[in-house]
This record gives sequence, C-alpha cells and structure tokens, in this order.
Amino acid sequence: MIYLDNAATTAMLEGAVGVYQKYACQSFYNPSANYREAIEIAKGLQDVKLRLKQKLGASVGDVVFTSGATESNNLAIMGSKRNGKWEYVFSVGEHPSVYNVAKELELQGFKVHFVGLSPTGEVDYEMLESVVNDRTRLVSVMHVSNETGAINDIQRIVGIIKDKTQNAMVHVDGVQAFCKIPVDLDALGVDFYTISAHKFHGPKGVGALYVKNPKALKNIVFGGGQEGGLRSGTENVAGIMALDYVVENINVDENYNKVMQLKRLAAEILAEDENVDVLDVGSPYIISVGFKGVNGETLMRALQDYGIIVGMGSACSAKKSGNRILESMGYSKDAVKTRIRLSFNEFLTEQEVCEAANQIIKVYREIWEKVK
Ligand code: PMP
Repeated sequence: MIYLDNAATTAMLEGAVGVYQKYACQSFYNPSANYREAIEIAKGLQDVKLRLKQKLGASVGDVVFTSGATESNNLAIMGSKRNGKWEYVFSVGEHPSVYNVAKELELQGFKVHFVGLSPTGEVDYEMLESVVNDRTRLVSVMHVSNETGAINDIQRIVGIIKDKTQNAMVHVDGVQAFCKIPVDLDALGVDFYTISAHKFHGPKGVGALYVKNPKALKNIVFGGGQEGGLRSGTENVAGIMALDYVVENINVDENYNKVMQLKRLAAEILAEDENVDVLDVGSPYIISVGFKGVNGETLMRALQDYGIIVGMGSACSAKKSGNRILESMGYSKDAVKTRIRLSFNEFLTEQEVCEAANQIIKVYREIWEKVK
C-alpha cells in the first residue's frame, strides 16, 4: 500500500509507541498526586513543555497540553473571547475546528470578518488589513493550509495587525507546519499557536496550545485546575511523552529536503498529462491535483483497488459538498469536484512516489475514457 494522505494523519514512530507503553503501563501515575512517583511524572511534563517551547522557538510564554488541535483551536478562540463590542477575524481557509468556532461566535452576536484567499491559497493580505481595527480582539489564520499546502506569511500578518491596533491577539493553527517547516514563534510574534501530535508521527488525541500570555486566556472547561487552570482533566501523560519523543527525534530540515524531492517527482509525472492540474504552492508535504472531467472521489475510490490511498482535502470536511477554500481561490464548484489531495511523509521512497503517480495517471485515463 502507498499511503498519500499524511495530512489527514500519520503512522506513529515505533520508538514513540515504546515510550507510550512505558508511560501507560509502568510510569502510569497521575501527575496531580502527591507521592514521589507522581511528582516525578509532573516534573517530566514540565520538562516536555520546556523542550517544546525551545522547538517552537518561544523564549517566553507557556504550553498547555490538550486532546489535539480541535481543542487547542477552540481554547484559543473561545478562551480569548470577551464581552463587549469586540470583533474577530478569520480566513475562509481555516480548518473546521477554527471555521465552525467562528460561525459560533457569529451566532453569539459577535461581529466576525472572513478574509478571502488569493489564487495561490494564501490569505488576502490587503483584505485582512482592511478589516482589522481597534475593536479587533483576535485574528486567527493558519500557518499551512491542510487543503492546498499554501503557506501564509505569518510575520507579515502580525505586522499588518500590530500597525493597526495593539488590542488584537493573533492565533495560528500550526498543525500542518510544526515539525514539517521551520517554526520560530519569537520571530513570528504570535500569541497562540496550535499543534497536534498525530500529524507528525505521534499519537492521536494529544496536542498543545502555545500561549504567550496565560493571563490573556480563560479556561473553557471547568474541573480540577490542571495546566494552570487552562485545561482541567488528567493529562494524557503517555501521549504527551510520545509526542515529546517524536519532536526530539525529528529532523525538520532533512525531512523537508527529502519530501521536497518526492513532491517534485510526483508533480512532474502528474503534470505530463495536459488534463491534470497540479497546484504546487508552498509546503512540500501537500499538493492539490485536479483531473479534467473526472470526479476526484471516483478516482480516489478506484485507486484504493490498486493500493494507493489519496485524500479528498480535509478529512473532517470530506463528506460535505463543495469546498469554501478552493472556491475562494477561484475554482468553480465543478472544478473543485475534480480535485484530490496528495500528502507525503519522509519515509516514502522515490520509487513508491513514482509508482503511485504513474498509477494515478493510468487510472485517471481509464475513467476519463469511460466518462468523456
Ligand atoms: N487544523 C488543521 C489545519 C488540521 O489539518 C487538522 C486535522 N485535519 C486539525 C486542525 C484538527 O486536528 P485534530 O485531529 O488534532 O483535532
């Protein structure tokens, strides 16, 4: 099987499974307890936070462990919500775990601005500038698009916002960026940054929210007061330790170069067919590909029989018709339907990628012959 849906999730590293097992079966103590073994675990979690901050390039602030990116995104947005005449700004390219929170804010009566995307999938920087004002409480824009791989210029976005107001905070969903492209939060200047372990060979159900100023955030769940009161509930110790293992063992630059080669190879092979449209815009880990006259879902299903697994954009929204993200970039509803997403990882070989790309073209042509 050749798995090309790594933006949806990745396989756990064997080493991380070993670490997970250790903290699930032997060092399984509750970090909130007061005996020596438990205190050791609590200390271990603090050490993970320090290492994580270092990997994120953050010299100040804190890390809050969560159940994954969906919770981190909800916490950043709902936890920074304040009563009064505040406004919120989101890009239309956001994942549903941000976009649907934005919709909820709208329902609650807040003024919410949605900023469109450029043809290459980046946020429309001028439009963003035009909606930010002194009443802006939070701007939330993702680092790398899970749909297209487009990379937003976060430093530029923060600059635009800070030039207009000192009141606004900035949240970035970094799920498809962290451990894949270089991330330096001090340089980016953001207030909140979301990560999720299962996107970079860690376990599912564990993630974190970087918080520059914990006082600016309120908890959205109530309970025992873990994580400085910002996220009650016994920490997923085994998951956090496995996440730490992966982060400490990953070589972001080396993987980036390797995956870049793989992506170029796939893009070259696919683009040889004039009916195939390869959107290759930013991160080497993700490309969106359109196949003239053929439904992407039909192609995806046909490819399964050849042991090739591809994605249909965000797995969370894959079942919904239409696609606000690609449509905002200028694709018609019909064109959107012809697209699939290929997403890579560093363990794929050139041979596998070559084989998959050739097979995708072959299967596409077979379907095209039947339907045209
Ligand atoms: N944000 C982005 C950009 C994503 O790609 C995903 C996963 N599809 C999420 C958030 C949600 O992540 P999790 O599964 O950890 O809740």
